[in-house]
Amino acid sequence: MGSIADNMGVVTRRIQKATMAANRPADSVRLLAVSKRKPPEDLRAAAAAGQKAFGENYLQEAVEKMDALADLPDLEWHFIGPIQSNKTRDIAARFDWVHSVDRLKIARRLSDQRPDSLPPLNICLQVNVDNEDTKSGVALADIPALADAVLELPGLNLRGLMAIPDPDQPEASLRQSFRALADMLGRLRQAHPDAKGLDTLSMGMSGDLEIAIAEGATLVRVGTALFGARENPQQT
Ligand SMILES: *Cc1c(COP(=O)(O)O)cnc(C)c1O
Repeated sequence: MGSIADNMGVVTRRIQKATMAANRPADSVRLLAVSKRKPPEDLRAAAAAGQKAFGENYLQEAVEKMDALADLPDLEWHFIGPIQSNKTRDIAARFDWVHSVDRLKIARRLSDQRPDSLPPLNICLQVNVDNEDTKSGVALADIPALADAVLELPGLNLRGLMAIPDPDQPEASLRQSFRALADMLGRLRQAHPDAKGLDTLSMGMSGDLEIAIAEGATLVRVGTALFGARENPQQT
């Protein structure tokens, strides 16, 4: 693999190519650089190459990096890992986005604990789109009711849906999972035409971002292709 700056160029071109191939407007897909288990220097290198949005899975690790990079203006921090109730206060105070909201209790806490001095927290509902028992996320069928409730919470801006389909499944079923997520976002937009958010499909990673973009992703979450393999790839 090349330098982080080189990798940024490669990934950016992959995104552009997939966006064009799908006949979608240029700039309709954002890159979230997933920096879990990577040191602050790596994020600094990506930021020097123009990257603003970073995704982190572990609160403590993320906060240490935020503090180490406090001199960099305008970074945008996205929490994408599982959320424990006792972590919501710090997540609500330190992050701009949370992609992994999968129950109303957590949504309520994030809304209540979002500081008044900050704009509403951008969130996505995490969908268990493969219906795997072991994975976190809400079943697709339960999304409309959860979205109705979350849209009432003043501290949150419901931006859309996120999923992590098993990347090792056959391409056709992966595509089906992405499509199901896109269809659900369309349903929510129809049910809530006046909602301010509902503009985000957070789907696609290093290995499958082209398929996700073809199916409507507006934000791809890319770690390995930017920063190289992580030490313990079995863990998310
Ligand atoms: C780690 C992670 C990614 C990035 O995965 P890569 O395959 O390294 O690109 C994306 N989304 C979530 C939720 C993750 O935990």
